[in-house]
Amino acid sequence: MTVTIDGKAVAQRVRAQVAAEVAALDPKPGLATVLVGDDPASAVYVASKRRAVREAGMSDHHRSLPATATQAEVAAVLEELAADPAVHGILLQLPLPAHLDPDALIDRIPAAKDVDGLTTRSAGLLARGEPGLRPCTPSGVIELLESQGVKTRGSRAVVVGRSALVGHPMAELLLQHDATVTVAHKHTADLAAVTREADILVVAAGVHGLIGAEHVKPGATVIDVGIHRTADGLQGDVRRAELDGVAARVTPVPGGVGPMTIAMLMVNTLRAATMDGP
Ligand code: NAD
Repeated sequence: MTVTIDGKAVAQRVRAQVAAEVAALDPKPGLATVLVGDDPASAVYVASKRRAVREAGMSDHHRSLPATATQAEVAAVLEELAADPAVHGILLQLPLPAHLDPDALIDRIPAAKDVDGLTTRSAGLLARGEPGLRPCTPSGVIELLESQGVKTRGSRAVVVGRSALVGHPMAELLLQHDATVTVAHKHTADLAAVTREADILVVAAGVHGLIGAEHVKPGATVIDVGIHRTADGLQGDVRRAELDGVAARVTPVPGGVGPMTIAMLMVNTLRAATMDGP
């Protein structure tokens, strides 16, 4: 029997816990979402993040800029939010229009308000194992593993993908949870031989249906981060149906990692409002 991990239920639990803690706080934590341009998928993501902010009882400080906004104009908005004491977290929605430099803009966000965990400083703190805000999707994966009682210490973990957003911080977090970690990427030779070593397989390649039964060790836990809009609805990087009777547990798409990403954004905003530093 392969268990389908209910990410929606875990995310609801995490969000309810955040809301309970926020209820006791005054002033309320505030999150600023910054959206540049009119990419429809980004608009949907920002709308659901703002809804989660309101449902958690936090304050919503949204800023919208036109697709023609210059690097200096976006930077000025980020600096204004950085100086605003009512704003505890700042999220710059990616991707940005092509004429903007995302890394330079992200680094305008102070580490203490970096609820996406993507600034150079946050990445450095993570690499050194020092306290800081961690990227939401990989933290959500850790939370999911813990919710299922999956042991990370001493386990073999394989992460497919090495992006700054998901794969790389995922590998760092698994290392900090005492797993033995291998990172695979698009130049990895014989991917199946590598992934078959995994007790915990996290797939964040962004390649629809990349991983099937031949890639999975019997009894493994498989976490599918990929999101693809197909004619049959949202699907992941994993051919879920093939893993029945092979994997011990698998996350579905939708309803697996996706809801956890927003839940961890709420956790990070609460932490940003209540922690000292970094
Ligand atoms: P990315 O394109 O920045 O990185 C993909 C990584 O996968 C790269 O490191 C690349 O080397 C590797 N890769 C590509 N093809 C491969 C192959 N054939 N074999 C092995 N490795 C390969 O993407 P990303 O931003 O890291 O996102 C990955 C996926 O996760 C996308 O589908 C994205 O939509 C999804 N995503 C989901 C959430 C969520 O909340 N569920 C959040 C962020 C990203």
